[in-house]
Amino acid sequence: MSESEFDIIRKYFTDIGQTPEALILGVGDDAAIISSPADQELLIAMDTFNPGVHFPEPTSAYDIGYKALAVNLSDIAAMGGEPKWFTLALALPELEHNWLQEFRRGLSALADRYHLKLIGGDTTKGPLSITIQIAGYAPPHQAIKRSGAQVGDKLYITGTLGDAAVGLELCQQGADKYLSYQQDLIDRLNRPTPRIEVGRALRTIATACIDISDGLAGDLKHLLVASQVGAKLETGSLPISRSLQQQIPVRDEQIQKALYYGDDYELCFTAPANRADDIAAIHLQTGCQISLIGDITPQSTVLIELDSENKITNEGFNHFT
Ligand code: ADP
Ligand code: MG
Repeated sequence: MSESEFDIIRKYFTDIGQTPEALILGVGDDAAIISSPADQELLIAMDTFNPGVHFPEPTSAYDIGYKALAVNLSDIAAMGGEPKWFTLALALPELEHNWLQEFRRGLSALADRYHLKLIGGDTTKGPLSITIQIAGYAPPHQAIKRSGAQVGDKLYITGTLGDAAVGLELCQQGADKYLSYQQDLIDRLNRPTPRIEVGRALRTIATACIDISDGLAGDLKHLLVASQVGAKLETGSLPISRSLQQQIPVRDEQIQKALYYGDDYELCFTAPANRADDIAAIHLQTGCQISLIGDITPQSTVLIELDSENKITNEGFNHFT
C-alpha cells in the first residue's frame, strides 16, 4: 500500500493492548520476538472476518474491530487458554482515517480488557478483510480439547443462545431506532463476550469444550464426533434471554434460533456429573450464567427432547450451503 502504509501502521497499530512479559520485540521489525515460557503450552488460532459473510455491511468500524478480536478470543477461551498476543492482516480498499481510528478503538477495547498485545501484522490494499491470529498459553496438558467427552458426562452451555441471530435479523430489516431489548440483541451480535474467565476456570473440570460460532446443533456435533459419543439435549433447558423472548414470543421459534443459528460465541462443554458444585462455583466467581442442557450418551446421535411441537431439522449453519 505504498509508503503511507508505514504511517498507517505507526499511527494506528503500534500501540494496541498491553505488553505481555514474554514480548521482546513488537511491531516495527521484520518479525516480532517472543520468549516462550518453558512451563506453558502455546495455543494458536486464526479467524478471518469478511463483510457480508461474517458481519453485515453496515457494521461500524468500532464493532468490526471489536468482534474480529472477540471471535479469536473465543477460540482461546474454548481451549481454557490465557490470551497473550495477536497479529492482524488487514486488507483495506482505501485509506479512511475515521474508519481506522474507530477500528483501532474497537480492537483496543478488548485488547486492554484481556491484557493482550498486537505484536505485528500486514497491511495491504484490497477488498476489506480482517484476519487475526491469536496466541495464548495454558499449563501443560490442561488445554481443553473437543475430544474428551465421556459417556455419563453432563452437557453445559454458557450465557444465552440465539440472541445474535435475532440481532442480525434486526440489522437486516434496518430501522431508525431500536427498543432497548432490540439494541441488546444487536449488541450481542456485534460485541460478543469471549468467555475467557470461564474457559480458564474449566481447565481441570471440563472434559471437552467448543465455542458456538455456527449454532449449537452444528458445533455440538463437532464435539461429539471428536469424542465419539452422542448426546441427549433438552430444549426445555436451553437458555433464552429476556430480550429474545420479548422480540420473539413463540417458544418454538426461540428454540430454532438457539439450536441452528450462529454467532453466539458461548462455550458448550462437558464435565463429569460429580463436578456440578465446581461449575456452580464458576458461575458465582465469573458472573456468567451456566446452564445444564443435557447428557452425554453412548449412541452416536443427538437426541433432542422437545418441550413443544417442533419441526426442527438437524443441521448447524454452514458457510457453503
Ligand atoms: P515486511 O515488508 O518486512 O513484511 P511490513 O512492511 O509488512 O514488513 O511491516 C512492517 C512492520 O509493521 C512489521 O513489524 C509488521 O508486523 C507490522 N505491521 C504491518 N501491518 C500491521 C498491522 N495491520 N497491524 C500490526 N502490525 C502491522
Ligand atoms: Mg521484511
